[in-house]
Amino acid sequence: MNLRDFRQGTLQGSAILAGIALVALATFIAFVATQQAIDTFFIASAMVFSVYVVWQSRRTVRRLTESEAKAKQVAGHDILSGLPNRFLFNDLVDSEIGRCTRSKTSFALFYLDLDRFKEINDTFGHDAGDQLIISITTRITRVLRQNDRLARLGGDEFGILQTDVKDPRDSAALAQRILDALSVPFDLGERQVFAGISIGIALCPQDSTDRSGLMCLADLALYRAKHEGRNRYTFFEARMGEHLRLRKAIEDELRQAIANDGLSVEYQPVMSGDGKKMVGLEALVRWHHPTQGNLPPESFVSLAEERGLIVPLGEWVLRRACLDAKKWPGLRVAVNVSPIQFRHKEFVSSVVKILQETGMEPQRLELELTEGVVIEDADQAENSIIELRALGIRMVLDDFGTGYSSLIYLRRFAFDKIKIDRSFLQYMEPSGESAIIVQSIVQLGRALGLTVNAEGIETPDQVEFLHALGCDELQGFLFSSSLAADDVAAFAASVEGHGLSAKMPLAVARAG
Ligand code: C2E
Ligand code: MG
Ligand code: MG
Repeated sequence: MNLRDFRQGTLQGSAILAGIALVALATFIAFVATQQAIDTFFIASAMVFSVYVVWQSRRTVRRLTESEAKAKQVAGHDILSGLPNRFLFNDLVDSEIGRCTRSKTSFALFYLDLDRFKEINDTFGHDAGDQLIISITTRITRVLRQNDRLARLGGDEFGILQTDVKDPRDSAALAQRILDALSVPFDLGERQVFAGISIGIALCPQDSTDRSGLMCLADLALYRAKHEGRNRYTFFEARMGEHLRLRKAIEDELRQAIANDGLSVEYQPVMSGDGKKMVGLEALVRWHHPTQGNLPPESFVSLAEERGLIVPLGEWVLRRACLDAKKWPGLRVAVNVSPIQFRHKEFVSSVVKILQETGMEPQRLELELTEGVVIEDADQAENSIIELRALGIRMVLDDFGTGYSSLIYLRRFAFDKIKIDRSFLQYMEPSGESAIIVQSIVQLGRALGLTVNAEGIETPDQVEFLHALGCDELQGFLFSSSLAADDVAAFAASVEGHGLSAKMPLAVARAG
């Protein structure tokens, strides 16, 4: 029985009771009146009783109505912010679509997502995160008109229904007011934090007249806002739909390529500091796309990260590299690990499993991480690094110097090797700033007892410079670009046979 049935039952019950009481009273009066033996006290009691029954049942009904309204309020609202939740927001959008269709007016649907909320939660704790959500709710509410509705759709996602939009500029103005309102830092306890927000906007009926269509288009516009640098607003545009369809098609093809061995791994030789000996290889994934040809990892690794494919992709590369490594005993093989893959809770156990399956010695495996790995959950990253090193695997900090806190990472996390990013070497003048930075990194690495690798070596002068500094390893097109697994042995033989790679110009000999 639901609340409404119960209420109706109670009403009927009380009406019947009251009826019975009144009939009994009337009968009694008729019966006893002639005998003039009416006890006035008795009549009064009967009347009071019937009034009491009616009053009591009305009170019960009122209480039930109140608790039903309260239950509805709780079910449709987010407890922390007090805002409508996704379910209620859906209802509000549905009725606004109906209203706009009848009155031939427009409204805008905003999809908002806080920038880097997870970072704030991880750094300052969940209480601070909650406090931030409340403060943001207050600031956004202040810039809305009375008829606009703000809702909390999920953790750091909000929705706004902007009613009576006469011109898209009205929506642009509201979006700008929101960005301005959030541009002032928030006080979280003793700290001040900045919280940017990205906003996607879709218009009804211009973009769609269907709720899920509108949400999807606003989400697409939000994705674009994030992609273009965050802390901004973007309107949905038709070309975004085309872009989405293309990405979806590539995503499906990539999924199939991972499942059906459609990817391959190439290996770039890593040379000793004098450039004369091959000491290892770096595994680099390749995708031979059926129509677009060979795609570089930069074009699909980020897609794999976004679409939840990076874990199977990363495991596939690691397994392939461990199997290929059997052909090159004594050489170390480095495998790149995406931050998202590394953060996955099963990452360490999947590495252990692949080592066991393939029989690869952990001492020959290197895992290359970038600074992004450790930024989000430092404690978990630290534990994983400790566990992997305990297995004998060497941990490498890739693209060193490109992040904003490379030195902090070196102090906190136990790496075995750093790789100086190739951007420092690209336009390096012997006495310019890049050269000073490279020199400092090599000295720092050596002082900390780390192996130092310089990648992107393209000229003999660079070899000379880095070797003189005491850099341990060199890697770059000067020696070799990435090779198919079957060509590695021939390259190794050419290095062994001639002391130098056949490709290396004379100047390298000077460096050695
Ligand atoms: P990375 O790990 O820093 O790899 C070095 C990149 O520099 C490779 O590009 C390599 O081909 C290129 N390179 C090497 N020597 C030179 C040189 O002398 N000059 C120039 N200009 N470039 C050179 P690639 O293969 O396109 O890989 C790019 C990035 O993609 C890699 O940067 C790595 O971050 C990522 N990546 C590659 N394979 C994988 C993988 O299996 N998993 C993950 N998660 N990321 C991967
Ligand atoms: Mg690398
Ligand atoms: Mg690198």
